[in-house]
Amino acid sequence: MPPHLPYAMATIIEIRKNKVHSLERKHPWIFSGAINSDVSEIENGDVVTAVNKRGDFLARGHFQHATISVRVLTFKDESIDQNFFNKRIRNAVDLRKKQNLFRGDNNICRLIHGEGDNLPGLVVDYYNGVAVIQCHSIGMFKSVNTIANALKTVFGEELTAIYSKSSDTLKKDVEDKYLFGECETPHIAIENGVKLNIDWVHGQKTGFFIDQRENRLLLAKYAKEKKVLNTFCYSGGFSLLALNNSAKEVHSLDSSKKAILLTDDNIELNGFKSKHKSIVADAMEYMKDLKKEDYDIIILDPPAFAKHRDKRHKAIQGYKRLNAHTIRQIKPGGIIFTFSCSQVVDKNLFTNTIIAASIEAGRNVRILEQLHQPADHPINAFHPEGEYLKGLVIQVD
Ligand code: SAH
Repeated sequence: MPPHLPYAMATIIEIRKNKVHSLERKHPWIFSGAINSDVSEIENGDVVTAVNKRGDFLARGHFQHATISVRVLTFKDESIDQNFFNKRIRNAVDLRKKQNLFRGDNNICRLIHGEGDNLPGLVVDYYNGVAVIQCHSIGMFKSVNTIANALKTVFGEELTAIYSKSSDTLKKDVEDKYLFGECETPHIAIENGVKLNIDWVHGQKTGFFIDQRENRLLLAKYAKEKKVLNTFCYSGGFSLLALNNSAKEVHSLDSSKKAILLTDDNIELNGFKSKHKSIVADAMEYMKDLKKEDYDIIILDPPAFAKHRDKRHKAIQGYKRLNAHTIRQIKPGGIIFTFSCSQVVDKNLFTNTIIAASIEAGRNVRILEQLHQPADHPINAFHPEGEYLKGLVIQVD
């Protein structure tokens, strides 16, 4: 134990000498192997202070009995209290205001993106006056009321409800509930001019995949007078943006009947029914005999094929197969928006996989655009692991 304990937070952990540099470089995770203290008495979610051998302050964060033992909240010797959360959340909201994400034709955005907003373990999404909190660490969950208070302080009257939804992410029997106000779902919110039914209670994640907003907007540019197939469509975000920008016809495909019902509701909400068809099918199977349809544009936005490094090889095979089928079958001049949200598959690996798929398909392919996650999903420069969404727009000649 270090010789002096000047810190307000009582629980001190000592970091091994050869592991200190990662914290000095402001990486926000402390792995269990870096700790040279008995942690058996520390409870999941406690705030701990990390010090070096001499007892000098290094960082403060949430502890958890896991491989990632501490998620660092601050590299300054400050208290983790209401004031701390107020400051961090105000900062995050100001950033989204700077990005002009609260407008008449757009009132959906990610307010807090974990490490990207210096709040590891916390995600907050915003849907037209309602904030949905999703905790990825017990520490954040223990602070959920403080977080809700901070959101109320920062937004004032503009916030009508706050919903806490962490039972999926924490895989624990915690209650999902309103912490402030109440709001009937589905709740209507707007993304770049299209209306969406958002249901955080019954839907996946917080109810919607906000991270594709800018890529949907890019699709809108290409979609005029085109016949579009949106695979892995979930609630139909890409389909709606295409239809709102004069696509000739859009087919939305998902293997989940529930997802297709969400898409149908959103199509109806925007009055696009006459130009739209829904398909419940497996995307890989559908791609194999695509020839029957002559799509101008195809979107491939599958779920993460690999959540861990040891699944990466298999994931690459999956991306390659899916893309090779699509490249082989699409009509000459056809355009494919292809994505991967697997964090362990980086940009280069993904691009190389698409090149390999093009070779396998035996077609000429050109890369037109390189896509990524939007600015309300910022990447902390000291935590490159925060980069997860990547995509390409390719033309198949
Ligand atoms: N593109 C969507 C988000 C995709 S989430 C958006 O913009 O909102 C991934 C979706 O893929 C889920 O809805 C899931 O039901 C669907 N899915 C998973 N496996 C599938 C498969 N083999 N074929 C078709 N859809 C699949």
